[in-house]
Amino acid sequence: MGSGKKYVYSFGEGNAEGDGSMKNFLGGKGANLAEMAGHPKLRLPVPPGFTITTEMCMYYYRNNKKFPAEMKAQVAAAMKKVESLTGKRFGDPADPLLVSVRSGARRSMPGMMETVLNVGLTEKTISGLIKKTRDERFVFDAYRRLIMMYSDVVMEKAEGIEPAEGAGIRRQLESIMDALKKKRAYTSDTQLTASELKSLCAQFKERIQKVLGKQFPDEAEEQLWGGIRAVFQSWNGKRAISYRKIEGIPDEWGTAVNVQAMVFGNMGSTSATGVAFTRNPGNGENKFYGEYLVNAQGEDVVAGIRTPAPINESSKSEHNKNLTSLEKGMPKLYKQLFDIQKRLEQHYRDMQDIEFTIENEKLYMLQTRVGKRNGPAAIRTAVDMVKEGLITKEEAVMRVTPAQLDELLHPMIEPANEKTIKPIAKGLPAGPGAATGMAVFTANDAEQWAHNGKQVVLVREETSPEDVHGMHSAQAILTAKGGMTSHAALVARGWGKCCIVGCNTIHIDEEKEQFSAGTTVVKEGDWITLNGTKGNVYAGQLTLVQPDLKSNAELSAFLKICDSVRTLDIRTNADRPEDAAIARDFGAQGIGLCRTEHMFFGPDRIKSMRKMIIAETLEDRKRALEELLPYQKEDFIGILKAMEGFPVIIRLLDPPLHEFLPQEESKKKELADELGIPLEKLEVRMQKLHELNPMLGHRGCRLGITYPEITRMQARAIFEAAAELVLKKVKVHPEVMVPVVGTQTEMRNQYDIIKTIAEEVQKAKGVKFPYLIGTMIEIPRAALTADKIAEVAEFFSYGTNDMTQMTFGYSRDDIGGFLPDYLEKKILPSDPFQTIDQEGVGQLIALGIAKGRSTRPDLEIGICGEHGGDPESIKFCHKVGMNYVSCSPFRVPIARLAAAQASVEIKKTKDAKRKK
Ligand code: ADP
Ligand code: MG
Ligand code: MG
Repeated sequence: MGSGKKYVYSFGEGNAEGDGSMKNFLGGKGANLAEMAGHPKLRLPVPPGFTITTEMCMYYYRNNKKFPAEMKAQVAAAMKKVESLTGKRFGDPADPLLVSVRSGARRSMPGMMETVLNVGLTEKTISGLIKKTRDERFVFDAYRRLIMMYSDVVMEKAEGIEPAEGAGIRRQLESIMDALKKKRAYTSDTQLTASELKSLCAQFKERIQKVLGKQFPDEAEEQLWGGIRAVFQSWNGKRAISYRKIEGIPDEWGTAVNVQAMVFGNMGSTSATGVAFTRNPGNGENKFYGEYLVNAQGEDVVAGIRTPAPINESSKSEHNKNLTSLEKGMPKLYKQLFDIQKRLEQHYRDMQDIEFTIENEKLYMLQTRVGKRNGPAAIRTAVDMVKEGLITKEEAVMRVTPAQLDELLHPMIEPANEKTIKPIAKGLPAGPGAATGMAVFTANDAEQWAHNGKQVVLVREETSPEDVHGMHSAQAILTAKGGMTSHAALVARGWGKCCIVGCNTIHIDEEKEQFSAGTTVVKEGDWITLNGTKGNVYAGQLTLVQPDLKSNAELSAFLKICDSVRTLDIRTNADRPEDAAIARDFGAQGIGLCRTEHMFFGPDRIKSMRKMIIAETLEDRKRALEELLPYQKEDFIGILKAMEGFPVIIRLLDPPLHEFLPQEESKKKELADELGIPLEKLEVRMQKLHELNPMLGHRGCRLGITYPEITRMQARAIFEAAAELVLKKVKVHPEVMVPVVGTQTEMRNQYDIIKTIAEEVQKAKGVKFPYLIGTMIEIPRAALTADKIAEVAEFFSYGTNDMTQMTFGYSRDDIGGFLPDYLEKKILPSDPFQTIDQEGVGQLIALGIAKGRSTRPDLEIGICGEHGGDPESIKFCHKVGMNYVSCSPFRVPIARLAAAQASVEIKKTKDAKRKK
């Protein structure tokens, strides 16, 4: 006999063996069904059923797709319970119990996995059900649905049959039904009569026999086990696997199976089915929001077969405003549903996405889960729920992902431009922001074209889980059918992708690969632009611009919450006063890196720079530097002023000198003439500057050491700028940073030069201001000897671009040659230039911090590499005890969020440790 292990958990009518905390084991759907049915504070009307655990799924795959001995008995016992609760028997010819067999993994994978409804309906049980319900039409409608789903899910997909595109059994059966509807001139499935449905069922079975070579099973038990097996099989279906890859869901999680007594939304005009959200998932407004269909079952709403009606006033849109809302049509049931959704949100303390069905005026809850939402909605609900007292600030911070925040920073169509252009079509705004791309009409094309470096917009009648790979590759998605809860809308919302659905004024011709909208025809490869916030479709490629963040009150409120939670400061990398000002508006608390090299490239100064480089005598070089001084001073005045009151780190000249010299022959000649020297002389000098490996060559502090006059000039420009501002009562805090330091002696050499100038300038101008002299830690040796270096340097800023380069020995500019292979073959988990390699480079960082602070406890430490804007890396920086991260101006809001999340996470792990 078996091990006696429990694989099956029952739920129903105020009781459940499992609960909401058991997601890993019962799957999200199963755990929440148990919670809704059994939790003393909920006890909602949930049709009874049972959940077979995810553990069984793994057992099934490990044991050659077989079940353990005890499984049969456990399922039978659980089915008995359902039978006694419903007063019906599974397979009973007189009064049959029908069930649904539903998949449900730990994390929701919308539409990826399979579900079969109306299991248990057979030739033998049909007549009993007709007698019982006195509704022949309903019974045959249920039967044709069972046949369609079962043949597709169990007889085709689970068997691993891969029909050609559009030739799957479900499609074939659908076209039989469509043909009949066309013949009868029906516009809706609900118009099909009982006898028409009956004859459809017969035709369906014939077609199945012909195409799949098997009879449609006519035994309830056989149907049930076929369904259970098929759900487990669907875990390893093609689309589930590809979805897992994109979302990073481990293969070992497995899915649970939920078997649940059927309730019927397709029993006529007093029945309905719907999907709703406790708040608007498109903008976060605290209003119950949803769609429903009268006389419909299961997936009709999501599949977009008929246009669903709004459940209430606030769910109305352009497309459904004339349909009767649930609130008006079934007020009592609406009220009951409204109360339940309120309770669910209070109970789960988060926005919920719910499924319900009304059978003959009785309401049943079929699912609840945390609702997917787009960026704006995530931010608004987080801010509102703090205000409502439902969640803490720390929780609010964890409710928004950096990617969701990023959505708000996404481009829009240039507003002035958009006003002057007429949309060619309008649909429902399912994913905000704007996007532009070439129209393609199949998911495969989208993937292929994107792979070839093209920007595409995927245009579909409606999307299905089979399209997910193409949807992912596309800039945006446009569908002709479907509502705000359709597949395309759900998936796009999850990804924060621009998306328009239900755009029913476009007519897609799949054969010709084109669509028409009014008089406009858009062919494959033609550019279109979508405004997913409004639902507008435009012909052509419109210019996109960054949004105005300052006037977004919700965003400001949310970022304030983040600021109150985080301890890590956020600075920005900015070389120009304009950028500094933008970053300041975004909340930057200083500049972590102001590069000075671009300051030499301006047309007014490059000549002096080149003179300085070509100079052969100290005298000549000094003269050229004199010319540069006022320019540099101007620049520093601008940037120090823009960051008034905050620290500004200015890095001394970093790149090798020959980067400032022209490459082309004609330009060289020009330069020689300008400098008044013969071309040959210039070329000799350039030859001398040439380096085999400039990245490891004469650069950074090495320049300042061989040409101290350069360091002197830059230091003077910085400190004179500071002094002048102080005289004008501007608060300044310059921090001078020496790059590419590897030894204490290098640091000492440059420190002394800079310090002398600082004292000189302050004395001469008769002012005092705070300043620091520090270094970039980018050379591994600097990290290893950080204690020595910190005896001189007053601050450290990690230059993790160079440090990654030198630690791995990868040339940053050449990594493109092998990185794709490395990622594909899992040699590297991710691009180390994008996300800090915590295992290796991270050790150097942590070591350098510990050593540095061992000799200078108050050492100020931050990061200024590209990593300063990467959420994962920011969390790492917080954990190793940095004071700040510095990133590009547009990443500052994301860094504020990531820093806050890092604080919360650290606190959580500390609390957990304390408990142990
Ligand atoms: P998905 O995860 O794709 O939403 P579900 O298992 O939730 O799949 O089921 C698909 C549809 O069938 C949903 O609309 C759901 O509400 C409906 N459904 C599932 N089980 C039942 C049932 N026992 N009675 C009525 N409708 C059901
Ligand atoms: Mg569902
Ligand atoms: Mg560097």
